[in-house]
Amino acid sequence: MHDRLEPDAPVTCDACDADAFAIASTREETITGHVHLTLRCGACGHWQDHTMSFREAARFHEHYEATRRQITRLLVAYMRSEALGA
Ligand SMILES: [Zn+2]
Repeated sequence: MHDRLEPDAPVTCDACDADAFAIASTREETITGHVHLTLRCGACGHWQDHTMSFREAARFHEHYEATRRQITRLLVAYMRSEALGA
């Protein structure tokens, strides 16, 4: 079971339902107005391809960046507590 940082993840892993991805490649098709993403699940390593509209890709990117910011905040809080000897 994986804790999601955002409840409404635009993309989840086909294998384990996590929403933590590394982006391996991105390809834009201006003719069809879609973006092709190859994603690797950070939880289980499953690879999957997604084709999204630009609007869906923007929502994915927004969620991805929000997750990154939350991880950064957690790491900073952890490092501060370590520095204080907590
Ligand atoms: Zn997974």
